[in-house]
Amino acid sequence: MDIKVYLFDFDDTIISTKIYAELYQPLLKMVKSKLKLTNSQLKQKAEDLGLKKNKFDRWDTGDLCRELNLLEEYYQVLEKQIKVMPVLHDTVINTFKKIKAKKRKIAIVSNSMRRTVNAYLHKYELVQYLDFTFTRDDAQCKKRDDPFWQKLIKKQKLNPRECLVIGDDPEQDVIVPKKLGFNTFLIKQPQDLLNVLTVD
Ligand SMILES: [Mg+2]
Repeated sequence: MDIKVYLFDFDDTIISTKIYAELYQPLLKMVKSKLKLTNSQLKQKAEDLGLKKNKFDRWDTGDLCRELNLLEEYYQVLEKQIKVMPVLHDTVINTFKKIKAKKRKIAIVSNSMRRTVNAYLHKYELVQYLDFTFTRDDAQCKKRDDPFWQKLIKKQKLNPRECLVIGDDPEQDVIVPKKLGFNTFLIKQPQDLLNVLTVD
């Protein structure tokens, strides 16, 4: 197998999501005060919008604010925190450099919004390593949905057999892309990134 394109998940693969844990309560507080909601009214509203809590028992605050038309307010809080909080896994740059030394392509495939991904890429000057980024905004859906991968294949003219999807989520980064022909690499910890080049 000759891997030509390495497709990296973003949250908990490239960056630590502790930033979202830290901002969770402040963001909920902001939403409640802007919309004058109590805790239970907010819970009801999130459920009415079809939002589900993630594996950490938290709503995705980006999704929540997007649905409630509070994205500007959301980014005011998030972008400020991105500037000051270290979140990049320390194995990323080394891994990217090794892949580039082999003249292979690197891309980000993420459920996050493009503006969020860009804020981190800019902070850590990662754009120089990347051939493209593909986000939920490009796909109009998330990685658990087949169309995410189908649109990615079409837009970037990929042969999935020559691609390796690297991520921490057993369903969205392994089961679903595998179904569409991609090779996959599940990571359990940031250290595992250093082994992606052994898949070849
Ligand atoms: Mg992830």
